[in-house]
Order: sequence, then structure tokens, then C-alpha cells
Amino acid sequence: MSTPQDAPGPTERAKQDRYDRAYMRMALEWAKLSHCTRKQVGALIVKDGMIISDGYNGTPTGFPNPCEDEEGLTHWYVLHAEANAILKVARSTNNARGATLYLTHSPCKECSKLVLQAGIHRLVYQVAYKDPAGLDLLAKGGVVVSKLDPEPDA
Ligand SMILES: [Zn+2]
Repeated sequence: MSTPQDAPGPTERAKQDRYDRAYMRMALEWAKLSHCTRKQVGALIVKDGMIISDGYNGTPTGFPNPCEDEEGLTHWYVLHAEANAILKVARSTNNARGATLYLTHSPCKECSKLVLQAGIHRLVYQVAYKDPAGLDLLAKGGVVVSKLDPEPDA
């Protein structure tokens, strides 16, 4: 919880909101890159004003792209967007401590653990996943969670 001293002023809040919306638009574009047909999710990790990672849900590198089997069920080895983005940071020399994660959909239980343990400090998402357990865990772990409502169609 923020104290009155570190609460952002109205100008700062407006600026943050503009950036949040711009990053979310990018996460939505990233979601479109997903080969999954059931659900397409995009993620962006921003640290110190820089995009340090991105991801969308999909199979591991080197595996065939389709996410679903003939019955339309998702393969167990499909990685969620935020897991892919966090693991991309793990392959780099950077880290996600104190970063903001932009996610088109709120995280599932499994991914919320990764988000927390990666040291991500803030989550901005647009669509709430049916199970609120992931968001509950993040809130309990001190992650600042904001829901960004979809923009009206331009
Ligand atoms: Zn997940």
C-alpha cells in the first residue's frame, strides 16, 4: 500500500495511464502472434522505462507451433505468455526485479508464482481470468495490481 508521501500527483498519474495504455496496446499486438486458437495472450515486461521482455502463449522453442491437439485441447507443454516473458529475461543478462508486467489476461495460479518470484512489482492486466487465485496471490505478495479497461474502439 502506498503512503501519502509516495502517492503520484494527478499529472504523474495521467502520464502513467498514457504509458500503461500504450504498453497494453503492444501486449495486445503480441497476443496476435500466438499460434494458439483457444486463447491468445500477450505479455510485456517493462523496467526503468524500457521494454526488457515480451511473450505470448505458445509451445517451447523447437516444438511444432500448434497449441492444441486434434480434439482442440491445449497441449500440457504450452507455456503461458507471462512464463515465456519471464523465461526470456532468465536467458538475458537482465532481471525483472521491480519491473511492471503488462498482461492481456490476468495470470493463472501457476504463473502468479513465477511473477511473484521473479520480483515483478506491478501487474497491469485487461481481462480477468476465471480463477481469481492468481491475482489473490499477487496481492498477498505485495504486487501492485491494476486492471486497465479495454479502450473503446477507435
Ligand atoms: Zn499461466
